[in-house]
Amino acid sequence: MIQFKSPREIERMAVAGEMVALTFQAIQPLIVPGTPTIEIDEAVRDSVHDLGGKPLFLGYHGFPAHSCISVNEQVVHGIPGPRKLQDGDLVSIDIGIGADGFCGDSARSFLIGEGSRSAIRTLEVCREALAAGIAAATPGNTLVELVQAIETSIRGAKLGLVEKYVGHGIGREMHEEPQVPNFVTKSLKQNDLELRPGLVLAIEPMVNGGTGDVYTLDDGWTVVTVDSEVSAHCEHTVAVTEEGPRVLTLAPGEAWPPIPGTPGQ
Ligand code: MG
Ligand code: MG
Repeated sequence: MIQFKSPREIERMAVAGEMVALTFQAIQPLIVPGTPTIEIDEAVRDSVHDLGGKPLFLGYHGFPAHSCISVNEQVVHGIPGPRKLQDGDLVSIDIGIGADGFCGDSARSFLIGEGSRSAIRTLEVCREALAAGIAAATPGNTLVELVQAIETSIRGAKLGLVEKYVGHGIGREMHEEPQVPNFVTKSLKQNDLELRPGLVLAIEPMVNGGTGDVYTLDDGWTVVTVDSEVSAHCEHTVAVTEEGPRVLTLAPGEAWPPIPGTPGQ
């Protein structure tokens, strides 16, 4: 069952969402060549602790870290470790934080230094797909229309749409109904719903530079592209309100749509 949130509950979700965004700001200086991804995760841990939040990923189905950090051909669910970021890497970082009984969930992708043309394009298309999905998260639209906006954005760019993983409702639980796939499925059409104020969704397209096909490594977590091409992942927690979409995973001073030049947004 879909849990619609009251305006007061959305304000509480914005507190959790802001913690996620503040944590992205806290780790920003570490997203440079030479940083082992485990150090970024330790900074996520410290930030969540300092903000008084709860890390939602640690221990989730046994996940061993506070954040998912996926580099280049890694799509999602990468486990932070000794791998050092290098010039040209495309790194996706996913962070979930609980606070005051509610959850915030956001992923941002960053280019380290210049990046290949493919990496630049993949990141750009992923951000555009997220923006298209958020713009469609408005009362009167349907979930199919929101998902169609994401799908059109990615397929139109002729990049790889990762079909295997989906966005989701979010609230007191990190993963609530409905599922928010990044392409229109038969089951989505059958279960379509009108977007109403109080619906809160984690919208999270994953875009690959090559094909959209992926598989999971033997560690049981890390999802990688089958063709070793790069991948990007962009996610925000978004509330449907009377006034339109409200992005909850923003820090003070951040805006949606993003101010040009805002790192990772
Ligand atoms: Mg996430
Ligand atoms: Mg999510």
